[in-house]
Amino acid sequence: MRVAIDTQPGGASPNEDWVAGTPSLAVVLDGLSTAGLDTGCRHGVPWYVAHLGSQLVAALADPETSLTAGLASALEQVAALHPECDLSNPGTPSATVAILRQRAGFLDHLVLADSPIVLEEADGFTVLTDLRVDEVLPELRAEVEQYETDTAEHQEALRRLITAQRQTRNTPTGYWVASSDSEAAAHALVGSTPVDGVLAAAVLSDGVSRLVTEYGMATWAEVFATLRAGGPQELISSVRKVEATDPTGRRWPRYKSGDDAAVAFCQW
Ligand SMILES: [Zn+2]
Repeated sequence: MRVAIDTQPGGASPNEDWVAGTPSLAVVLDGLSTAGLDTGCRHGVPWYVAHLGSQLVAALADPETSLTAGLASALEQVAALHPECDLSNPGTPSATVAILRQRAGFLDHLVLADSPIVLEEADGFTVLTDLRVDEVLPELRAEVEQYETDTAEHQEALRRLITAQRQTRNTPTGYWVASSDSEAAAHALVGSTPVDGVLAAAVLSDGVSRLVTEYGMATWAEVFATLRAGGPQELISSVRKVEATDPTGRRWPRYKSGDDAAVAFCQW
């Protein structure tokens, strides 16, 4: 497997996405926004995703380790790196996880929350994703989306949404993300696909996949054509060009003008 990667922050703040590629592994993590709210952690989200990603690559070095077991192990390792922080804080640093691994003729995948893996096959595209986060708190999300991104009302609505999400995150009635509790790994969606039928694959944060799913400004076929022609960097810049036409989210309501973006493009 050949993996090309890139990641770019969506604005002036530090990048909270993380991406890695190895000859057998593609990993994308998307740190959850804190909107300036307390996290109980002095390290921050960029630290969290960098350490979780590194621990994941280490935990999955043995191909016999399942993706679920590797994620559980990585979550425990990262929690052990900052015991002085309040890991029971409901805002403790958290992230989505998307992992694609080639192993003995198969592509194993794991998705936890909404960073998708897209498989290009001869007869079309398969999107592997976990959209449970979209099913909770619809009224608070609608409230955020009614304001343009540069308004105080938008910021306040976003803080209300994130405060409420923290209460339901990693509970049986809510949705699951990578956080301080390794139990989340058991709630990830996993599967396997014969590598023979797959022409290429893209592991994306939602800051990139929204070009297709939210903005409707490209098809998956166009996304893969861009990846083949110009690589991950070209795909991220095409997202930024679209967002520049709607800087305050009037046409495409969203949480911020530009979201952090991460891409791992896999070819054989
Ligand atoms: Zn910490």
